[in-house]
Amino acid sequence: MEVKKRILTGDRPTGQLHIGHYFGSLQSRAKLQDEYEEYIEIANVQALTDNFDNPGKVRENIEELLCDYYAAGIDFNKATIFIQSEVPAIHEIFIYLANFATVQQIQHNPTIKTEMAQKGMEVSTPLGFFIYPIHQAADILCVNADLVPVGKDQAPMIEDTRVLARKFNSTYKTDILHQPQALFGVEANVPGIDGNAKMGKSLNNGIYLADTEEELRKKVFKVYTDPARIHATDPGKIEGNVAFTYLDLFDKDIEEVEAMKERYRNGTIKDVEVKERLFEVMNEFLTPIRERRREAEGMKEELMKKALEGSVKVAGIATGVAGQMKEAMKLKF
Ligand code: ATP
Ligand code: MG
Repeated sequence: MEVKKRILTGDRPTGQLHIGHYFGSLQSRAKLQDEYEEYIEIANVQALTDNFDNPGKVRENIEELLCDYYAAGIDFNKATIFIQSEVPAIHEIFIYLANFATVQQIQHNPTIKTEMAQKGMEVSTPLGFFIYPIHQAADILCVNADLVPVGKDQAPMIEDTRVLARKFNSTYKTDILHQPQALFGVEANVPGIDGNAKMGKSLNNGIYLADTEEELRKKVFKVYTDPARIHATDPGKIEGNVAFTYLDLFDKDIEEVEAMKERYRNGTIKDVEVKERLFEVMNEFLTPIRERRREAEGMKEELMKKALEGSVKVAGIATGVAGQMKEAMKLKF
């Protein structure tokens, strides 16, 4: 039998999932769950690094993620969902990898820099947060993943993981750790409705898979367009115009979108017309996802049971990888 390659990816239980997650990662997960042995981590230990004073929030959002996964078409009988805190070998792998990382390397990581600025952590950075890129490398390597479907904000993290695996292998003359490949669902992060370059759970600028039709409509009509355009007859800008970024993602009629862009540039279409169209295509796309999510809300216990079973499975695999690493480092007795 052919051995399937492995996927590892996951989310922080800091809120519900939004369309950025969908196009950045969830869609690839649903597509690849047959072809790969797929592991999806609910990163509650990582979520605690910047929410340690709010453990209730992290705990409650685990169920939200489970419902969002189901809604996005993840099959709980194919993919293995697991909870990070149930896999202690990840922390063990982390400490072995930490020898190969430097403080400077993390300091120069562009995603960490952005996140520290967003969270007001420049003057005082919790060490638990600072080390998360290495801890996340341990997540990926704990099942020796080959592929990691993620959003572009994660590119530096996957690169760090590859470097750590390579350094570990070359230092101990072994090939036990795989160097994972990133798979980006979108070329750039999906922007927030406020025009922020990234839609983020913690940034209050998202369109969620759980949003009702009414909430969706309200948000679509608030989407950031071209602030310099006052009248429908003013020539408008497409670059940085979030309404058009979303149309590119949701509208299957590419010619129609191009025609609308042309009319926008020429000042022959109103913002409201663009947004009506956007609402229509988004709602059509999100309706079945929303319905599945409602179905999942009645299945929370069953989904959690699956996640706990998955955690036991991953704990076994991760203990195996940690054991191999110990062996290579002459730590095994
Ligand atoms: P937080 O604000 O708590 O960090 P988040 O919205 O960044 O939440 P994560 O749980 O950190 O979400 O990310 C989960 C996955 O979704 C990652 O692979 C990440 O790259 C991807 N992702 C998150 N936001 C976006 C986005 N706006 N566009 C594309 N991918 C995204
Ligand atoms: Mg994030």
